Amino acid sequence: MPMNLDKKTIEAMKAAGISFVGSVPAPWGGITETLEPEDLAPFIKDREEWFARKNGAFKQQYLDWVATSGEPRCGANTSKGTRCKNSVSGGIQRYFEVWLQEDGGFCHVHGGATSKDARKR
Ligand SMILES: [Zn+2]
Repeated sequence: MPMNLDKKTIEAMKAAGISFVGSVPAPWGGITETLEPEDLAPFIKDREEWFARKNGAFKQQYLDWVATSGEPRCGANTSKGTRCKNSVSGGIQRYFEVWLQEDGGFCHVHGGATSKDARKR
């Protein structure tokens, strides 16, 4: 259901020192984001899409980030031609921007850092 937000009310609230925060699901539970008045409508419509866009990503990438518990996946193909299902070393619950950079990297089998090396970074 589309929602008509009263912009004047929102601006008056902001001017009075009221701030808006929204919560978005994340691998560790949730992230709290500060929202500007112009963020409210898109956030209410689709907060996952809003969060993905804010990070310069697609909603599907956001969903993959949550689904993988924030652990990047190896982007190499196995000798059988299927995608390697190993994870990139470094642990789960990485921030979305880190996950975006490291997803599609390489696991230790395919030339990536071992867990031990990754932890030194
Ligand atoms: Zn791999």
